[in-house]
Amino acid sequence: MPDNVFTKKGARVRLDDISAEPPDGMTQAKAEKRLEKLGEELFDLQDAMWGAKLHALLVVLQGRDAAGKDGTIKHLSGGLNLRGVQVISFGVPTVEERQHDFLWRVHRHAPRHGELALFNRSHYEDVLVVRVHDLVPKKLWKERYDHIRGFEQLLTEHHTIVLKYFLHITKKEQKKRLLEREAQPQTAWKVNPDDWEEREYWDDYTDAYEDAISKTAAAHAPWTVVPANAKWYRNLVVLESIVDALKPHRDAWLMRLKEIGKEAKAAVRGLRAR
Ligand code: AMP
Ligand code: MG
Repeated sequence: MPDNVFTKKGARVRLDDISAEPPDGMTQAKAEKRLEKLGEELFDLQDAMWGAKLHALLVVLQGRDAAGKDGTIKHLSGGLNLRGVQVISFGVPTVEERQHDFLWRVHRHAPRHGELALFNRSHYEDVLVVRVHDLVPKKLWKERYDHIRGFEQLLTEHHTIVLKYFLHITKKEQKKRLLEREAQPQTAWKVNPDDWEEREYWDDYTDAYEDAISKTAAAHAPWTVVPANAKWYRNLVVLESIVDALKPHRDAWLMRLKEIGKEAKAAVRGLRAR
């Protein structure tokens, strides 16, 4: 297992020890070749998943402001049949949402069999921003790791493939991106003073992310810390990881498609005979 993938509860997670840069020897040209092939693979896998309806896929994207959550979704969409895909962005909870338990707004967007749900932020915000800013008492958010583990276990029992990504950028890279955003007319609309304020809490978020990853890592719901300073490498890591997670199911899905085809053909033959 690479040292940026966490599959065990209690794993030691030190973000500062994990590089945010592409590894030596990896180039954008190499990545792009690979990305093209992976995109086609993902398309076929997702199509089979959709038809077979044996599994659902939940992809959770977390990261600091400007870490590239939106960019990752944009990139993934190039390798997906949008029929069967939902993107859900979780912002500040509404009054109605706050008047429910924290998983209420999330659970209703869990993907049904055949579908893929891409979460832009997620239930993890309730142990991240909520913890960093004391939005609820510690006694409450501390319990949430267990609730999250139980929730993800439940989804898994319902044949949902759960994959969680932390897009890992450095503080320097974040500053560069926020300033670039401001300078470009095409991206200035994204400028948000909150992003600069949140930046002041960098170390608190680091602690909160390390805890969240460590306390909720599981073989059935792994966390991948994605080196995300280079967008092309970030895209490669996420795409490759999703394809790797889906591939083991390919045979079962294709078999199911065959069965469905057989049943459908038999039904048509029956109709013609009548
Ligand atoms: P953005 O992703 O830039 O659209 O911003 C969404 C904002 O909603 C971020 O500042 C999040 O921290 C915030 N947010 C998301 N979930 C929660 C939550 N459960 N409680 C409080 N704030 C949240
Ligand atoms: Mg933001």
